[in-house]
Amino acid sequence: MKKTPMDTLFETSRPGRSGFTLPDLDVPEVDCAGILGTMCRENSPRLPEMAEVDVVRHFTGLSKMNFSVDDGFYPLGSCTMKYNPKLNEMAARMPGFSRIHPLQPENTVQGALELMHSLGAMLAEITGMDAVTLQPAAGAHGEQTGLMLIKAWHESRGDMKRTKIIVPDSAHGTNPASASVTGFDVVEVPSDSEGMVDLEALKGLMDDTVAGLMLTNPNTLGIFERHILELTETIHKAGGLVYYDGANANAIVGKVRPGDMGFDVLHLNLHKTFSTPHGGGGPGAGPVGVKAQLVPFLPVPVIAFKDGAYHLEGQNVHPKTIGRIRSFYGNFGVLVRAYTYIMSLGPDGVRDVAEMAVLNANYLAKRLSALYPMAHKGHCMHEFVLNGGPLKAETKVTSLDVAKALIDAGFHPPTVYFPLIVPEALMVEPTETESRETLDRFVEAMETIVAKARQEGPEAFHDLPLTTPVSRPDETTAARKPILTWQFDQE
Ligand SMILES: *Cc1c(COP(=O)(O)O)cnc(C)c1O
Repeated sequence: MKKTPMDTLFETSRPGRSGFTLPDLDVPEVDCAGILGTMCRENSPRLPEMAEVDVVRHFTGLSKMNFSVDDGFYPLGSCTMKYNPKLNEMAARMPGFSRIHPLQPENTVQGALELMHSLGAMLAEITGMDAVTLQPAAGAHGEQTGLMLIKAWHESRGDMKRTKIIVPDSAHGTNPASASVTGFDVVEVPSDSEGMVDLEALKGLMDDTVAGLMLTNPNTLGIFERHILELTETIHKAGGLVYYDGANANAIVGKVRPGDMGFDVLHLNLHKTFSTPHGGGGPGAGPVGVKAQLVPFLPVPVIAFKDGAYHLEGQNVHPKTIGRIRSFYGNFGVLVRAYTYIMSLGPDGVRDVAEMAVLNANYLAKRLSALYPMAHKGHCMHEFVLNGGPLKAETKVTSLDVAKALIDAGFHPPTVYFPLIVPEALMVEPTETESRETLDRFVEAMETIVAKARQEGPEAFHDLPLTTPVSRPDETTAARKPILTWQFDQE
C-alpha cells in the first residue's frame, strides 16, 4: 500500500495554535534591546504553531516511513547493517555514562576513563595492534587520522619525498578521498582476474615516493587477499607503511588479526562491526590502531593508568603527537555500546560473529548464484558481489530496477553499482544476526523479481517502488542541490 506524503510542520501550522501554556509572568518585563542591543532580533522566528498531538503524530508518521534493521532485512554491502542488541543501548543510557561532562575533574569520571582505557586495550588485542586512539568520529575520519600518522612518521625520519598513497581499484571511495584530503597523491593499483590486488602491478609501482598502501581485507568484493603477507612485505621493502581499512571487520573479528598480516595502522568502524546503529549521518566512531613505531604520534589526550587511577596525558608527555583530532575523547556513547557488545559476547562470542557472518554470506551466495553469476569465483567472506550485467543484457532490467522492486517486497536493497569494477553490481552483506528463514525469504523475493523481469520486461519496473511516499527521486539533483529547509517564499 502506498504511503501518502505528509504535510510539513510549516503546512500543518495554524496561527496562534500552541502545545503548551506558559504561566503568567511574575517578574518585571525587560526590553530585549536593553540587554542584547543590536543582537536582539527584530522579528520573532517563524516557527510552526501546533498542538502537542499534531507534533507527536508528525514525528511518529515520519518514523514509520523509515526503514531500519529493527524493521527488516537490510543487506547493504560494505555497510554491515546488523541487529544491535538493546543491552548496549541500556548501558549507554546509564546516568553514570550519559550524565557526565567531559570537563569534570578526572577523579569524578574514573569509570568512564576506565571504560575507554579497557576498550582501547580490547580493540588492540582483537586487531593485533600495540595501541588504539578512540578519538576519530567516523571511518573516514579514522582514515585521515591514520594517514596523518603515516605522514608524521615519514617526516620524523626526514623522508620528505613520500607523496603517494596506493589504493586498489576496488577500494571504498573514502580511501582515495582521505588520502587526497591528507595531501597525498593517489595512485590506483588494478585487481587481477580473481578480484585480488595484482601483485606484479603493485611491485611495478614501488619506488621511494610511495608513502603507503591502503587495503581492505577481505576486500570490497568480499574476497580474502591470499597473498596478503607478500603484499605488505612489498610495501615495507620499499620503505612504505600499510593501512588497513577495517570498517567492516565482521569477517575477521576473533579469527585473524590485521596486525599479524603486516599492517601498521588501521581503523575500525564501531558503528558497523561493534554494534552502534548507523545511517543518517552519525554519531559514529572510527578508532585507529597502530604498531609500536607509530605510538608516539597518536592524538592526545591519551588515557594512562598510573598510581591506581586513570589520567589524561597531553602534548607535554607526547611531544610527537599529531595533536587533537576531535573535541574531548570522541563519541563516548558509541564507545560504551562497543564495550558492552564485546564484554557481553566474550572471546567465543566475538569469534561466532565472524563465523556466522561468513556462513550466512556463503549460504546466500550459493542460493543466489542460481539467479545471478557471482562477480568472482570461490568462497566469499562476509559479503559478495553479484553481476547484474547478464540479466540486463537478457531483459533490459537493471540492478537499479531490481533494487527498487526489493523495496516493495519489504527488503532494504543491497548496495548497487559498487564496487565500480563490476558492471551492474549488487553487493550483498547479510550479517550474522539473520536467521535462515529471513535469508530464504530474501532468495524467494529475488526469484520472483528475476522471473518478473523475464516475463514482463523493463516496463513492469519503471514505476517501482509503489509502496513509498516518493517513488524514484532524481538522485543526482537530490544529492547535488538538496533542499533541506522550508522555503518561506513558496507560500
Ligand atoms: C563505511 C566504510 C568506510 C567509511 O566509514 P564512515 O564511518 O562512513 O566514514 C570506509 N571504508 C569502508 C570499506 C567502509 O565500508
